[in-house]
Formats: sequence, C-alpha cells, structure tokens
Amino acid sequence: MSWEDNVRKVVPYVPGEQPKVADKIKLNTNENPYPPSPKVGNVLKNFDANSLRLYPDPEAFKLTEAIASYYGVDNNKVFVGVGSDDVLAMCFLTFFASSKPILFPDITYSFYDVWAKVFNIPYKTIPLDDDFKISCDDYMQDNGGVIFPNPNAPTGRDMSLSDIEKIVKNNSNQVVIVDEAYVDFGAQSALGLTDKYDNLLVVQTFSKSRSMAGARIGFAIGSKKLISYLNDVKYSFNSYTLSPLSIELGKAAIEDDEYFKKTCSKLIATRENSVDRLKELGFSCIDSKSNFIFAKHKTCSARYIFESLKKKNIFVRYFDKPRIDNYLRITVGTDEQMDIFIKTLKTIVETEK
Ligand SMILES: *Cc1c(COP(=O)(O)O)cnc(C)c1O
Repeated sequence: MSWEDNVRKVVPYVPGEQPKVADKIKLNTNENPYPPSPKVGNVLKNFDANSLRLYPDPEAFKLTEAIASYYGVDNNKVFVGVGSDDVLAMCFLTFFASSKPILFPDITYSFYDVWAKVFNIPYKTIPLDDDFKISCDDYMQDNGGVIFPNPNAPTGRDMSLSDIEKIVKNNSNQVVIVDEAYVDFGAQSALGLTDKYDNLLVVQTFSKSRSMAGARIGFAIGSKKLISYLNDVKYSFNSYTLSPLSIELGKAAIEDDEYFKKTCSKLIATRENSVDRLKELGFSCIDSKSNFIFAKHKTCSARYIFESLKKKNIFVRYFDKPRIDNYLRITVGTDEQMDIFIKTLKTIVETEK
C-alpha cells in the first residue's frame, strides 16, 4: 500500500508544441498571426498596477457586459472563463452529470475525452462519415448530453445551422454544447438559437479570432438557467477566474469590431489562396471554415512532411491517430509565412518523388 494508490491517475491532453528556437514559422497551434487590436495594447500601457492589490470582480461584469452588448443578449446569458478550455471543463462538470453517455465525434477536439475521463463522465464517440462530416441523425440516440465543435477541429469542416438546430431540438432533455472556437472564420454561429432553446450553450474564445490566446479569455452564451447553473459550479471552486487585467483586455478587444473584421477577412483570404496553392502541389484539402487547413498529399506521407518541415523550423500539427494519420493540420499564418511554408513544402514533396 502506498499513497500513490490514492492518486487520481489521468492521461492529460497534449497541446501543440511551443518550440523554443528563434527563427521559426509556427503553424501548429491555431494561433492568430496578427497582433490583438491596438486598443488592447493601450490598455496594457495604461494599466494601473495598484489595482492588482484587490481581488477582481468575481462576475467580471465589465467583460460580460461588453460581450452581451456586442452579441445583443442579456448580461445574465453570458458566462466568462480562463479561455474556453476553462469554460468547457466547467460545462462538462455542470451539465454532464447523467449516467447515460455523452456523445461527441470520433475525430474532434482531443480535450473532450480527457475531461470526460477526469470527471468520470461516460461517453460514446460517433464516427464522422467518410467525408469527415458530422451527420446530425447520429445524435438522435439516447444520451446524457452532446458536444461538438462548429467548425469541427481538426477537420475545419462546418455544419449547417439547420442541422445544428435538429440536434438541439431533438435533444431537449439534454444540454447540447456547440464549441465555436473557430466560428468567426466563416461558419454560421448558433448564438441566435439560444433564445429559442434553453438547452443550447454556445462556447467561444478570444484565443483564435481575436488574437489573444495568451490572455486566456473564453465565454459561453446560453439561457439564463444554464448560465446560473454554470455560475453555481464556478463559485464552488474558484470565484476569481479572470484577473482585472484580462477583464480590461477582453473588453477592449471586443469593442474594436472594425479591427476584428479586418483581420478575420485577411486571414480568410490567405486561407483560400493557400488552399489553391496546396492543391497545385498535389494536396487535397477539406473545405475549411476555420483558421487552419486539414490536408493530405497524394503520395507523400504526412509524417514525412511533418518531420521534414520541422527540420527547417516550420511547425505544423500531425496527429498519429486512426483515420487522420495521413493528414497535416496547418494553421493559416500571414501571407509571407504561407509563402515560405509553401515554397519549402514544394521542395519536400518534389524531392520525395
Ligand atoms: C483552441 C480551442 C479551444 C480552447 O481555446 P482556449 O484558448 O482555451 O480558449 C476549445 N475548443 C476548440 C475546438 C479549440 O480548437
């Protein structure tokens, strides 16, 4: 007998590598290549260090209010957390307390099964179809809750709003969570459905489309009842999730809509151009509505390309998992970064032939 017998043992989520080398092109963790809004920089410059003496507002009211006003919903329909990973973990704990399995796709954000295991939530994965699509009919079976990203990760493929509504409507006795981490890059948000369905929770983040992965800000929007249950759980283990600095930074970011729209459309244009160039090199790409491209080469193995790029300090993401082990997930960078990336890629696939 040892104290180790009493340890909760888990297999953690493995985030993409944060390489230490200086001269690199980093296209492996879906960060935004553009800086946050200049208004965020101004907040940082003028931030009063003395305000750190006090505990922050547990409700993060200034930020919840700014998010609510941006999306045109009541304040009590918004919940904020330390990145959407924090929000999602809290959601698993709050809404998935059934003894029936929760449902999510077999190929999806690899944190879902980690949270299910750490919270002892039974789960069942539903295979994507052969085109890597989520088929909404698969989510009509008996379950304890549903979660999926839209667009899905790491495929980048989106789902129609009418399919999402079907899932929400046919699961009115369970909570349905739509993880919209990448929705601002071209998919349709389910936010508008939260008025109609009190079992729908939409989760978004400032990490991708608002270029603030380092600030750790995420949020959920749903019925007043859902948000109130989420708050009960949050206040049961940490009342002060967001620092006063994050609250101010988040507020400044969401208020600069012009900058946000400008950087998102720039990124989308780069994505479409990169997809065309990848196709010319013999890649097939899944139609992406996110800030990454999921691509596979007709002859060259994904692992070989991944390793060869890495030797040249270009980092993309490779998943050694069934069905997707011949794909690369390539985050969309700036035009300049993508140009270097594609030229390097060209030499790799051409010398392999
Ligand atoms: C990036 C990502 C998140 C989490 O992002 P945070 O930085 O914690 O806000 C959640 N879901 C998906 C699908 C993601 O790709």
